[in-house]
Amino acid sequence: MKPAKERHGTRIANAIIIPMFAVVLIAVAITFGLLIWSAHISDQAAEKSQRQLLTGTLQLTRDQFARQQASVLVKDPIYYITTGPIYDTSWLYHNVALWLKENYGFSRTLLLDQEGKYRFVDGPNVYEKWVTRNLLNSLQPAVRAVQKRYLASLKELPSGLFYFDPDYRINEHTLSETGLVSIKGNIYLFSVAAITPELMKLVSRRTTPAILVNFKQLNGELLAEIGRVSALEGMVLDSIPALEPGGPSIDLKAPDGTTIGHIHWQAEQPGQEMQSRITPVLAVLALALVGLSVVVMAFIRQSTRHLASSRADAVRASLHDPLSGLPNRRQFKQLLVRTLDDPQVVKRGAAVLYFDLDRFKDINDTLGHAAGDWVICAIAERLRRVLPENGIVARISGDEFALLLPDCPNEAQAEQIMSRLQDMMVQPVSFGPDEIHVSVSMGAALAPRDGLEAEELLRKADIALYDAKSNGRNRWSFFEPSMQEHVRTKDEIARELRKAVDEDLLDVAYQPQCDSRSDKVVAIEALARWNRPNTGAVPPASFIPVAEETGLINDLGLWILRRACRDAHRWPGIIVSVNVSPTQFKHPRFVDKVIATLEEFDLDPERLEIEVTETVFAGRDKKTLQSLKRLKDLGIKIALDDFGSGYSSLSYLRHFPFDTLKIDQDFISAMNDSPEARAIVRTIIRLGQALGMTIVAEGIEEKQQAEYLAANGCHRLQGYFISHPLPAKDLDEFLADHEIQVEMKHQSLEVERLRSAEY
Ligand code: C2E
Ligand code: MG
Ligand code: MG
Repeated sequence: MKPAKERHGTRIANAIIIPMFAVVLIAVAITFGLLIWSAHISDQAAEKSQRQLLTGTLQLTRDQFARQQASVLVKDPIYYITTGPIYDTSWLYHNVALWLKENYGFSRTLLLDQEGKYRFVDGPNVYEKWVTRNLLNSLQPAVRAVQKRYLASLKELPSGLFYFDPDYRINEHTLSETGLVSIKGNIYLFSVAAITPELMKLVSRRTTPAILVNFKQLNGELLAEIGRVSALEGMVLDSIPALEPGGPSIDLKAPDGTTIGHIHWQAEQPGQEMQSRITPVLAVLALALVGLSVVVMAFIRQSTRHLASSRADAVRASLHDPLSGLPNRRQFKQLLVRTLDDPQVVKRGAAVLYFDLDRFKDINDTLGHAAGDWVICAIAERLRRVLPENGIVARISGDEFALLLPDCPNEAQAEQIMSRLQDMMVQPVSFGPDEIHVSVSMGAALAPRDGLEAEELLRKADIALYDAKSNGRNRWSFFEPSMQEHVRTKDEIARELRKAVDEDLLDVAYQPQCDSRSDKVVAIEALARWNRPNTGAVPPASFIPVAEETGLINDLGLWILRRACRDAHRWPGIIVSVNVSPTQFKHPRFVDKVIATLEEFDLDPERLEIEVTETVFAGRDKKTLQSLKRLKDLGIKIALDDFGSGYSSLSYLRHFPFDTLKIDQDFISAMNDSPEARAIVRTIIRLGQALGMTIVAEGIEEKQQAEYLAANGCHRLQGYFISHPLPAKDLDEFLADHEIQVEMKHQSLEVERLRSAEY
């Protein structure tokens, strides 16, 4: 089956192509239709003009016939013989009938005398054989017309005589009428003419004239002559109307209107001829047009498919994260809304999880963005694998993922999945030679318990995530209504923090570090504290990243430094350690500010220690190195904090000669159960010693840990086992107490030593 986007493309293409193709076909059909129609019209017009031509030629033939007949009638003797007392039939036969027959081929002749009696035909007494009543009846109208015109031509004089003056406007030559008749099944041309006196001749009486009637057969010869004159071919005389239905023909009619025959001919058909010439050319053009259309349509089809496919890709891109291929925030929300619309899903319960990688920024900063991208893809793949079949996972932002777990009615069920997710993260992500360890924090909201709206559930899962992060990383929290009061947006935190810096609402807690041999407090670490009105203490892990993001860390860090330098005078001889974030190093006047602060509070640089994490080297910024060197040259001690927690810790030792190395507390806490952790700690201590550094172990919570570290040569110890971070005045008390305790411990040890020496 074709993929959906291809089907969609084909549908659009068909919507354009089918009507287009139909239009092309219709255009071709109309062109051919017009050709056939115009050929037909022109054939019809040609046939009409041929018919007119033939009719005209027939008329000409009849006129010529009349003129030929007239050539004998102009002779006076005929008039006198036909009107006089002596009726010489033989003379008439020889001088008229025979003469006309021999000269013009008039095969038959009739004479009608003044009394209206047929007297003479073809020779004496033969006429009865072909003269029928029907024939005479047929001739009657012509005879009457001629008689009438003749009588009208005799103009009366006052003397009572008449003179002959025909009106030649009626007939140019004589008083005659022509026409066609059928004699014994043959068609004849006839001409009826009055036998008249000479022009202007006087006659005594106005009597009807004798009439001469001549016939000439319309035979093949005559027809051929007519055909030649009219330039028509294949002319035939027939008794049936047409050779083929609608074929060219004219009807031949007797004077009384009856049809006596038909002439057919082979019609010239210019239309057909034009059609037969143009059709092949047009067919080639039509084929070319259809071919061209097919090519254009194929192109349109392809382009449309391409367009539909790009559109589908664009839609997909707008709904997916390009890096991981997972749905993005927008689509997750759409899917969530759709899922929550299903009452069955709500009935069975569902969980929305926010899933966030801890310290992802460090991965990007220390190993580069390629490593960060790699980790995101690897985690996305793992999430896909662990996700239940009907679940949804999406990448919401940089290192944040969201999950929808249907069929999740309670916390226990959600916890099962979350613990599976956490287990899945134990396996480090391999990136080239590096093994990247990733931990995650999760926040969960349950539907319908925490709400039914997508927006609400997302917000609550986010609040729960914030809670999980605030309480230390690598854990999860479920949403609880009380969390909402503590949760503020990043902007709100930044605003309040600025206010706290400006209005001196921050504080510093000091955590002592003891010398592992003498037990004396030799250094204290200054740690920022923010007691937020209403909500209480906010852990640095929550507000320091916000301060770094907003640039507020510069002011905040300076505030802590100033406070630590000021307070340092309370504890002479003790080193004060201050945490400085990488952003502070990017500030162009950071070192100047440190120098100015030392001068302002008149503190010996030897008493200040600055703690940096390895992320300070991210981006391999030369200026940072120069700043570190300048500080070190002033006599300030530089410590590498959280050593071992990063990704390429060892390599950073080469970059800069640190004074102090602080072993990450994760190693210390792991020491109890893990021989490997103990081995790593021992190695770090030896490494530090070899490089001439002071080694500090932080996060010591148990005596056992302190003893082990001391026994292995760690120089300084820091942790709850010694003291929690304390406000300055509490530290005063602690130091006083601690001094006494150390003194007592030493005295009892001294007593112990002396006793054993006595024995
Ligand atoms: P850090 O510099 O590694 O500080 C040590 C953290 O470990 C402190 O957490 C401290 O309270 C905690 N800690 C000390 N002993 C123990 C122990 O025995 N067990 C346990 N579980 N924790 C112990 P805190 O104060 O929450 O600070 C967290 C981080 O915030 C610091 O880690 C540091 O990176 C940052 N930070 C704190 N104050 C400042 C500051 O003024 N400037 C900067 N840039 N960062 C600061
Ligand atoms: Mg520190
Ligand atoms: Mg630390």
